[in-house]
Amino acid sequence: MTANATRVLVLNSGSSSLKYQLLDMAQTRRLAVGLVERIGEETSRLVHTPLATGGERRVHEGPMADHDAALKALAAELAADGLGLDSPQLAAIGHRVVHGGLKFTAPTVIDEAVLKEIERLVPVAPLHNPANITGIRTAQALRPDLPQIAVFDTAFHTTMPEHAARYAIDVATADAHRIRRYGFHGTSHAYVSRRTAQLLGKDPSEVNVIVLHLGNGASASAVAGGRCVDTSMGLTPLEGLVMGTRSGDIDPAVTFHLRRVAGMSTDEIDELLNKRSGLVGLCGDNDMREIRRRIDEGDEAAALAFDIYVHRLKKYLGAYTAVLGRVDAVAFTAGVGENAAPVRAAAMAGLEGLGMAVDADRNAVRSNEPRLISPEGSPVAVAVVPTDEELEIAQQTYALVTA
Ligand code: AMP
Repeated sequence: MTANATRVLVLNSGSSSLKYQLLDMAQTRRLAVGLVERIGEETSRLVHTPLATGGERRVHEGPMADHDAALKALAAELAADGLGLDSPQLAAIGHRVVHGGLKFTAPTVIDEAVLKEIERLVPVAPLHNPANITGIRTAQALRPDLPQIAVFDTAFHTTMPEHAARYAIDVATADAHRIRRYGFHGTSHAYVSRRTAQLLGKDPSEVNVIVLHLGNGASASAVAGGRCVDTSMGLTPLEGLVMGTRSGDIDPAVTFHLRRVAGMSTDEIDELLNKRSGLVGLCGDNDMREIRRRIDEGDEAAALAFDIYVHRLKKYLGAYTAVLGRVDAVAFTAGVGENAAPVRAAAMAGLEGLGMAVDADRNAVRSNEPRLISPEGSPVAVAVVPTDEELEIAQQTYALVTA
């Protein structure tokens, strides 16, 4: 690697999408960001924003058969900006990998053995890991000489103690099938908990934080002195909070009932709980903006969906307060957490006994900066901390290749 190799390409591959960012780590600056959607369809679409040149956003529509075509298309866009992936300034490619099981506790240089292990985890992440593997193989083919780094969504949660990670089921069965709580959104929980400590002017090792990552997928984590001690997602991202389309916590016997009484197949139940539940299942909408608009018009289904969503949040706030013993901060992040002031106000309402409260004026401020929304002198700092998973992946990647 040359001394001026300070760029990192971050790739986040989904089954039919490829999100990317090119960052310069010497200045911690984003050079370009983009997204390829509907890969494999006639209507593939690439949206590229060249931040370094300050140029206009460019959109290309037309079929891209696979991830290889998508990567070549984004490489061409970067080359057009003078940021080609053949540049000696590119230090590494950082890949978001959803499931790293127990083995991967830190960012890892990808080789064949690592890829095999990611493949071995496909049964516990059937939607995500295959797409991540495709993204890695494609990038390896494009730049075989370059370090490719896997940054795992589960890694931050591998510090959870056994009593938080294990389900109370037969140990032999659990072990045979690797059934335990892994947690997800780890790069976001890591980034936001650290950023929250900074906002308080403290070292992460000194503070206990509850992070509420509320996007379309949503999860909570309890972070004690920089280490995750509990999180709401489990074997899969279905457990925990009410989400856009996922149920979150549910009596597992509901699934037996759906099979035996409703006659649904396993795949149908999977689809119901992952895609037709949560906010969308409760009221038909999963966008919090739309739900708030409907509530303002007096829509009862939307109001009940909101109340169920908030009730679950409060339960996790209480539970994680007990798990941590002492809470220094609660941090809201992701699409809903960063933007939906009514969700933050409702989640905190009545929690004065836990030392948690929101100042209405501070909560109403819109900003992309981390900020406190609790009243002056509040025992627990309540904060809004915008997440940045790509920056976290880039920093972890760059730290590994320059170590
Ligand atoms: P994410 O998965 O982090 O991209 O979050 C996406 C979700 O954030 C959307 O489904 C919306 O529900 C929510 N969201 C985005 N912007 C706003 C906003 N201004 N107000 C309320 N909710 C929002």
